Amino acid sequence: MIQEPAGLYVHVPFCRTKCRYCDFYSETDLDAVSPWFSAALAEADLYREICGAFDTLYLGGGTPSLLPARLVESLLRGLRGCFSFGPGTEITLEANPDDVTAEKLRAWRAAGVNRLSLGVQSFDDKELRFLGRRHGARCAMEALDLARKAGFSNVGIDLIWGLPGQSLSQWMTTLEEALAFSPEHLSCYELTVEEGTRLHEAVTTGAVVLPAEADLAERFLATSERLTVFGYDHYEVSNFARTRRHRSRHNQKYWRHVPYLGLGPSAHSFMEGRRWWNVRSLHDYIRRLQWNISPVAGDERLTGDQLRLETLYLGFRTSDGITRRELGEGPEVESALEALRRSGNLEVVGDRVRATLTGWLMADRLPSFFDP
Ligand code: SF4
Repeated sequence: MIQEPAGLYVHVPFCRTKCRYCDFYSETDLDAVSPWFSAALAEADLYREICGAFDTLYLGGGTPSLLPARLVESLLRGLRGCFSFGPGTEITLEANPDDVTAEKLRAWRAAGVNRLSLGVQSFDDKELRFLGRRHGARCAMEALDLARKAGFSNVGIDLIWGLPGQSLSQWMTTLEEALAFSPEHLSCYELTVEEGTRLHEAVTTGAVVLPAEADLAERFLATSERLTVFGYDHYEVSNFARTRRHRSRHNQKYWRHVPYLGLGPSAHSFMEGRRWWNVRSLHDYIRRLQWNISPVAGDERLTGDQLRLETLYLGFRTSDGITRRELGEGPEVESALEALRRSGNLEVVGDRVRATLTGWLMADRLPSFFDP
């Protein structure tokens, strides 16, 4: 069997300000951009001989769009100098609406970026303020217009639902605003409360009260129904593609255990059953690479059982599901499958087992039924 090419991720660890809910690693000191850039290319050089061809490149963060356009161009040129990229490589750049200008869009396109993932989160100014976003709804609409005018034909919109006090109709209004742009991709994430964030603190002190589970389930089902009627392919719990061809090729690698290499502070990599991760601190990352020291902070080799459980965890979140063979065998597996099938949470389609829409409401718990 021909092995699918690996994916390359570059973590751009800078944000102008920190959003209230976010726990991705980033710094607001933009003076470190230049040393980070040199360190990222030095890290790429460490893998020059090891990695084969990539067919996806994802610039994520943090906020890649705040980089000066010439730096994005130099970064892509540097990476092409280190690695080989197959024809038609999917090159995604995550952008915040307030960074988007016609000049930057032109430069990104010229550099080879062919997929834009725009962090809109909401089309409601009050909700955007709650989330601590820097942009307003109008700014997001303008950014989307500019992206189309610049010729981007693969645009994704990221949204967040399940905000405290957000009614179903408020969420559906945001969803309709997004649909008005006919994006090729929509990510609709439930607001999650991560430890260490300002949102976590507000929830812990009772200043913010989260929606009830039944309300969240209602929003999830309404989102899927609306987008499916609109023709979108609900291919992962939180992700929708206008056609199968518009699924995020890069993210699917994570979900299918296809190898990927992550560069930058806090980035994770996975190859041949081994996972490793870089130091989180930008300062440490830069210092290590200046001294030609690996930035890897730790690694683990996944056992067969761990790989199987992860396959179930990731696979049950996708519409493709997993194969019967990946599910395992034996009377306990069969009886768990039968029980979940009868309760309407799993279905068997040919050789594959996948979660139903209601099964997705408990997607993260499904693997535990098959954990010996
Ligand atoms: S959500 Fe995006 S812009 Fe906001 S802090 Fe996180 S990475 Fe930065």
